[in-house]
Amino acid sequence: MDTLTAADLQQILDEIAHAMAAEVDRGAPATYIPELAHVDPSQFGIAMALPGGQVVAAGDAATPFSIQSISKVFMLAIALGRLGDTLWQRVGREPSGAAFNSIVQLEHDKGIPRNPFINAGALAVTDAILKGHQPREVLGELLRFLREAAGDDDIHINRAVAASEQATAHRNTALAEFMAAHGNLKNPTAMTIGTYVHQCAVEMTCEQLARAGRFLAGVPGSPRMVSSARVRRINALMLTCGHYDASGDFAYRVGLPGKSGVGGGILVVAPGRASICVWSPGLNAQGNSKLGAQAMERLARATGWSVFG
Ligand code: GLN
Repeated sequence: MDTLTAADLQQILDEIAHAMAAEVDRGAPATYIPELAHVDPSQFGIAMALPGGQVVAAGDAATPFSIQSISKVFMLAIALGRLGDTLWQRVGREPSGAAFNSIVQLEHDKGIPRNPFINAGALAVTDAILKGHQPREVLGELLRFLREAAGDDDIHINRAVAASEQATAHRNTALAEFMAAHGNLKNPTAMTIGTYVHQCAVEMTCEQLARAGRFLAGVPGSPRMVSSARVRRINALMLTCGHYDASGDFAYRVGLPGKSGVGGGILVVAPGRASICVWSPGLNAQGNSKLGAQAMERLARATGWSVFG
């Protein structure tokens, strides 16, 4: 294991935050969810949860943001806990190479989404968790999971963001209806979409998300939320599918499993070392945080951390 101290890591984060503050080309916040379009793109935060409970952070790491698709990682953990491997009858485990909300791919795949992190796959996961439960119960379970994983009860859903996405959820509704046509959606479409937009509208800070991801990084002292065998599988999916059609590029540049969201957050796992969250609202063409990905590339270079040795 490397010899970087918390003070060394703090210095690295400070340097990254400083460099990112000077970046002019910051990408653009998501506009298809109207509430997210107003978020100030000048913000940047980064936080790292280390063994023993220590957290180091820089920039706007204490500002809550919309976790959006990062919620898919936690919902997958909950779904696997409930359904085990039967979940894989409804969703695949292959990288998509297509946009996160691709309709054409779902048609090609006959209603079985390519993986649990593209929108169609996440809708199938949410639909599977809903079986026999009300949306309120499922969202309560997600919040309990996040609060326990983060060790922080101050984690909530932003209802304005959920309502804003729900009012414009035409594409996700199309994906859900298409899956229903193939028998791969069991609940009323509105119920699954309603639950999904609320899970995506959870707000957390970089510090909270970094702590919530500790169980995936297996950092000593982290709460044990799922078995280590399952953690390895979730991490494999994050590495191969966590950034949609930019997953290969992120694996090449950063070399660590990560999951992005259109709120501009990225949760990154450095196994045994740290759980990291970076956030900047401006997105690149693939819908991933532009500065977030740049910052993670710098961090991987500065620390030498990689799952590839
Ligand atoms: N709620 C968003 C959507 O369904 C999540 C997408 C994302 O974060 N990439 O479009």
